[in-house]
Amino acid sequence: MSTQNIDYHVKLKNRFPVADRTMAFELEKPPGFTFKPGQWVDITLPGLASDAPGGNVRGFSFASAPEDDLLMVATRMRDSAFKRAFGELPLESEVRITMTGGSFTLHNNADRTAIFLAGGIGVTPMRSILRHAAQKKLPHRIIFFFSNSTPESAPFLEELTALQKENPNYTLVPTITRVDSGGASWTGETGRINKAMLEKYTKDAKSPIYYVVGPPAMVSGTQKMLEDAGCDSDDIRTEGFGGY
Ligand SMILES: Cc1cc2nc3c(=O)[nH]c(=O)nc-3n(C[C@H](O)[C@H](O)[C@H](O)COP(=O)(O)OP(=O)(O)OC[C@H]3O[C@@H](n4cnc5c(N)ncnc54)[C@H](O)[C@@H]3O)c2cc1C
Repeated sequence: MSTQNIDYHVKLKNRFPVADRTMAFELEKPPGFTFKPGQWVDITLPGLASDAPGGNVRGFSFASAPEDDLLMVATRMRDSAFKRAFGELPLESEVRITMTGGSFTLHNNADRTAIFLAGGIGVTPMRSILRHAAQKKLPHRIIFFFSNSTPESAPFLEELTALQKENPNYTLVPTITRVDSGGASWTGETGRINKAMLEKYTKDAKSPIYYVVGPPAMVSGTQKMLEDAGCDSDDIRTEGFGGY
């Protein structure tokens, strides 16, 4: 499935911070509605004029798994008309979800390792896939390189760390790029994801497929790094968060 038109009015049930300036929004799940982990949905804020700057629709990857009771999206709270309105929307208000789809979904062949590379809010489709993989006990080996400037700006870091206990096939490799920000308690990697870091953690990877997601500049930079490191471009899948 590439894209699918839908039209549901769903209630905003919860909203809570998941990192510095980053909020998760939980929406009612319409009966029977489902999606594949890694896909996105268009959200329209009916209270926002369609001629607001950037319009009243934004696409968000699902951060929740299909098995979860509520739909979740998460976003960096910038000072845009859409995000101000979303951030202030009273709970139990309705938003519209109008389109869903995408092919940034986990491959079927569990003999091949999945290597995820995401920065910041690019974590959303990864969380969806990882929660699904843990709940369904998928056999895929998954190694997730998760880059953020500081630990505090890393959405869902605690949860994604804890998921390793539920899913022995999954390894999280968190890295922070503001090297001085982790303090003595930071035990993860430091610096940007590079060839040496990849090699250190992917020795057991079998014919890996790479999944890169985040703002378009991060995606193209990471894709180039992978290609320079000798990865086959046929095995690199990307999702650019247009609009950042
Ligand atoms: C497949 C996909 C998945 C995404 N998933 C997430 C997610 O999980 N979390 C998240 O925070 N963001 C996600 N985004 C980006 C999101 O749609 C917003 O564009 C982004 O959050 C910026 O919104 P804003 O209101 O701050 O931007 P604004 O400052 O209002 O917009 C910046 C400019 O970008 C334009 N623009 C807005 N949205 C898009 C778009 N989708 N494509 C191209 N131009 C656009 C506007 O017209 C405006 O000119 C995703 C985008 C795509 C395409």
